[in-house]
Amino acid sequence: MSATPATEISALFPYRVRPGQEAIVREVQELTRRGGPLLVNAPTGSGKTVATLAPLLEHAEATGHRILYLVRTHSQEVQVLHEARTIAHRLEKPILAVGLQGRARRCFLLENVAEIKGATAEEHGKLCADRKRATERAMHGEAPAAPAPELPEGGEIDLTDLDGCPYYARVLQSDLDGLVERFSGKLAAPHEFEKYSRDENLCAYELSKRLVPYARLVTAPYAFFFHPFIRRSLLDWMKATPAEVDLVVDEAHNLPSHLRDLTTVSLPQESVRRARAEVADRGDFQLPDGPSATRFFDIVGAAVEELIQALARDEDAVLPGTVFEDALLTAIGGTTHRFDTWLGALATWGENLRDERRRERHLPRSWVHTVALTLLSWPQLDAPGYVKVATRVPRPALEAYALDASVPAQPIRDCHLSVHLSGTLAPLDEYRDALGLGAGARLLDVPPHFPPENRKFLFDPTVTTRFEEIRNDPRAIQRIADRLATILQALPVKTAVFFPSFDLMQKVLDAGLQSQLPGNVFIEYAKVPMGDLWRSIEGWKKDPEGSVLLGVAGGRLSEGIDYPDEELEAVVMVGIPYPRPTAKREALRRFLDEKTGHGWAYTVEAPARRQILQAVGRMIRSENDRGIAIILDKRAPTFAADLPGLEPIGDLAATTRAFYGRRARWSPTASRSPGARTADDRPPAAPNGL
Ligand code: SF4
Repeated sequence: MSATPATEISALFPYRVRPGQEAIVREVQELTRRGGPLLVNAPTGSGKTVATLAPLLEHAEATGHRILYLVRTHSQEVQVLHEARTIAHRLEKPILAVGLQGRARRCFLLENVAEIKGATAEEHGKLCADRKRATERAMHGEAPAAPAPELPEGGEIDLTDLDGCPYYARVLQSDLDGLVERFSGKLAAPHEFEKYSRDENLCAYELSKRLVPYARLVTAPYAFFFHPFIRRSLLDWMKATPAEVDLVVDEAHNLPSHLRDLTTVSLPQESVRRARAEVADRGDFQLPDGPSATRFFDIVGAAVEELIQALARDEDAVLPGTVFEDALLTAIGGTTHRFDTWLGALATWGENLRDERRRERHLPRSWVHTVALTLLSWPQLDAPGYVKVATRVPRPALEAYALDASVPAQPIRDCHLSVHLSGTLAPLDEYRDALGLGAGARLLDVPPHFPPENRKFLFDPTVTTRFEEIRNDPRAIQRIADRLATILQALPVKTAVFFPSFDLMQKVLDAGLQSQLPGNVFIEYAKVPMGDLWRSIEGWKKDPEGSVLLGVAGGRLSEGIDYPDEELEAVVMVGIPYPRPTAKREALRRFLDEKTGHGWAYTVEAPARRQILQAVGRMIRSENDRGIAIILDKRAPTFAADLPGLEPIGDLAATTRAFYGRRARWSPTASRSPGARTADDRPPAAPNGL
C-alpha cells in the first residue's frame, strides 16, 4: 500500500501518511477553514487519532483555538496524549496538554472517606468548595486561629474532622508558571500527572483546572462538555468561547445513548423509600392543608410499585397517558395545584436539610429534595421528546426516557468545528440524524486497510440465540454450551467469547460449559469496579496459560480494551447481539421512524452491527494482527456486508491449522484439563468433525 511523505500533507504529521489517514487529514484541514461537523468512520488501528490531531493542532496554533478532545475511557485518553506528544516535537514552541478527570478520581483528601462513596459530582463539589473556602480563609489570615491543614493519616477518615484541604493549600502555594513550564512539551499521561500530584501532595483536580487556561489541548470525559453546569465551568477554566473550541468526540458511536441517558429522568422506588425514611428520622411534618410527609411518600411509593407490578411484566412497559399523576391525585385526594404546593414545601425542606448537613460537614444530600424535584418536573417530560415507562431494569423505577439526543447535542453545534471519530460509526447518516447535526455535516467512511487474509469470518448455521427458539426449546441452551465447548477446544489461541447478555452467559456456563473450558479462563462479571477489571484482564492477557475470556457484547471487555498481537487471536460471538425488544427501544424506533424513516435500521440493526464489529475488531489492532471470528448464529449472513468472506464454519480444526500454523500455542488435538497451568496440557480432540 503506497504512503505519502508526511511533509506533503501536514508539517506536523509525524509518520508516513497512509491513504486512509490522508483522506482524514485533508477533510480535517478543509473543516478548519469552513467549520461545522465531520463524521469519520475509520477502522481501529487506522491512525485516525493522529490524522485528526495533526491538522487541528496546526490550525489551533495559528488561530489561538483550543482543542477539546472528549474521550470515554482511560485508554483513549492515554492514546490521545501519546499521539499529541509525537506531534508536539514538530512544533516550534512547546504546547501544554491537560487531561481532565472528575473529583471522584482525583480528590486525594476525600478518597478514603466512607461517606463520599456514591456521592454525585454536585455533592462532591460542595464538600470540596467548603474545604477550599476554609483553606483560603486560613491562608489569608481571616481565621488566624485555624491551624494549617495537615495531611490526613492513612485509613478511614471521618468527614466531619476535615476542615480545609492541605492538597488545595499546596496548589495555592505552588509556582503556577513553573508548573506550566514543567508540563509543557512533556504532555504527561494521566497516570504520570496523577503520580506527580500525589508525590508533591498537590490536588490533581485543582492543579489540572489551573493548568487548563494555558492548554492548547484538553482531554476530558464526555460529561465535562455535555452536562450543562460542568460545561459552563469548563469553558470558564479554558477561558474560551464555544466559537474558539475545536471539538473532537472519540468513540463517538456511544454519544447518542450517552446523551439520552444524561437527559433521562428516573424515579426509583428505592429513592422514594429513602425519602420517607429521611422524613421519619428527622421528624414527620404536615404538608399545607394536606397529608403528613411520610403519608405522602407512602402514597407515592405505593403508586410507583403498583404501576411497575401491573405493567412491567418483563423488563419495562409504557405508562399510558397521565396514569401516574392520576393515581397520585386520586389516592391523595388533592388538585394539581395543591400537589405542586406540597412538592414545593418538600423541596424547600430538603434544601434546608442539605444546607444543614453541609454546615455539619456531612454529605449535602437529601432524598426528599431529589424526589420532590423529580415529581415537579414529571408533567413537563412528555412526547415527542420523552416516553414514560415503568421499568424493572436496572432497578424498579418510573422513568421519563429521553428519545431526542439532538437537544443535549446542541453545544456541539456552537463549537467552531467538531470531528466525530469511531471505528463503528456507520451508518453515518444515523449518527448525524440522531444528533441533529444537519445536512451540511461531512461524512467520511474510510475502508479497512489491513490485509484481508489476516481475518477470517465464520458462522455456525446450526445454532441461534433467537429469543423464541430459546424459549420454546428446552435443549437450546445445552446445545449452545456443547457447541461452544467444542469450538473452543478447536481454537488453539487466546480466544474471547462474547454473549448477548450476562444472563445467557450464566445459563450457558451452568449448562456445563464451565467444566469444559480449556486453560485459564477469565470471566467478566457485571458491576466489578473498572480498576479491578482492568488489573485482572491485564493479568490474563500476559498469562501464557490464559486461554479463554468470557464477556458480553457491548460490555467493558468487548469495547474499549485493546488486545494487540497474540493477546487475542480469536473471537466467538454467541448469537447476534440484537438489543432487547423493550418498550424504550420500541418508542425510540417509532420516534426515529417519524423523524428519519429508518427506525428499525437505526435502533435494531445498527446497534447489533456495532457490537459485532467492536467485538471482532478486538483481535485486529494492527497490520500484523491475525484472527478468526466465529458467529454462533444462523442469522449472521444478515451482516455479511460487514464481515468480508463470511462462510459456514465447516472443518474448524483444519481451518485453524491452516490459518494459525505454527502461531498456534497448543495443539487442538490433545486434551487440556480445566484450570491446568502447564504449557504441556492439551485440549481434548474436537468432536463433530471440527
Ligand atoms: S481541593 Fe482537591 S483534594 Fe481538596 S477537597 Fe477539593 S478535590 Fe479534594
